[in-house]
Amino acid sequence: MEHRKVIILGTGPAGYTAAIYSARADLEPLVFEGDEPGGQLTLTTEIENFPGFVDGIMGPELMETMKKQAQRFGATFERGRATSVDLSKRPFRVTVDKEREYTADALILATGASAKMLGIEGENELIGRGVSTCATCDGFFFRNKRVIVVGGGDSAMEEATFLTKFASEVVIVHRREELRASKVMQARARSNDKIRWELNVTTQKVLSDGTKVTGLRVVDNATGETRDIPADGVFVAIGHRPNTDFLNGQVEVDELGYIVTKGNTTATSVEGVFAAGDVMDSRYRQAITAAGSGCKAAMDVEKYLEGEMAHDWSVTMNA
Ligand code: NAP
Repeated sequence: MEHRKVIILGTGPAGYTAAIYSARADLEPLVFEGDEPGGQLTLTTEIENFPGFVDGIMGPELMETMKKQAQRFGATFERGRATSVDLSKRPFRVTVDKEREYTADALILATGASAKMLGIEGENELIGRGVSTCATCDGFFFRNKRVIVVGGGDSAMEEATFLTKFASEVVIVHRREELRASKVMQARARSNDKIRWELNVTTQKVLSDGTKVTGLRVVDNATGETRDIPADGVFVAIGHRPNTDFLNGQVEVDELGYIVTKGNTTATSVEGVFAAGDVMDSRYRQAITAAGSGCKAAMDVEKYLEGEMAHDWSVTMNA
């Protein structure tokens, strides 16, 4: 069984930055890439708000660059997803893809968050046949077609606006009259002629002809009336949930399922296990904040392995 000083789970900005910092600290990290190497940014197009890129940078390119930077300092990457961990004793044990086992003195959890689903009839069965959670990935398939975007947050506004490049019509379906999205994103969507609004409705069923999506059935919250909105695609953009199932309750999480970290550190409820990025951050969820917390996690691991933090952990946490 392979043993490492530090194993990092996840390869979004948090995992990559943790890899860069821990590799530069000679900790020779082993990084598991998970189901989505590069994380959510590989599903986006241009990133305009990551500092250092005057003209923006494409998400996949930014992630690939971070990976190469970590490799340059000796981080190793392996395909595979952690399916379970044993944190009851040290070294910690990590099982990858249900078969390969590894041990580590310290762990950095940077497994991010995944798209939430509506949980309505037809949704799961039609994934890949008209139901999608990623406009950037699938928008191209809806050229001159009608699509629906479900959600009232920034993601929904962004996806809907993006989809107008391809689709003939985009209908935003949201469960309330008010949108959660920021003013600027709302304004952008509202000024787009191709976008139509179905507000204050509850989604009931994804409709299909047996093979592909034909629309979405909604119930009007004000009148109770049911109506079918015809569409070739339904994009679900209702937020994300943190990827913590593999932890099987061994690390403390908050009421939304995000890992709880202690004080101004990345320490979790298990000594020697640290968390960074979207898996512990339900508030900011930005590439740059994830990268920042990945840096913190690597620095915390370094201190932890040096034994400096072990005895005064609580002091550091309360600082
Ligand atoms: P979000 O802000 O949590 O919004 C989720 C939306 O989906 C809300 O409108 C919510 O309705 C709705 N929703 C949630 N569960 C639902 C369900 N079961 N059925 C129907 N509707 C449901 O998530 P997000 O839009 O993904 O944004 C997450 C974070 O990323 C935010 O901080 C956002 O600002 C940021 N973000 C920024 C950008 C950007 O600046 N370029 C782009 C994307 C995301 P209610 O409003 O009724 O709760």
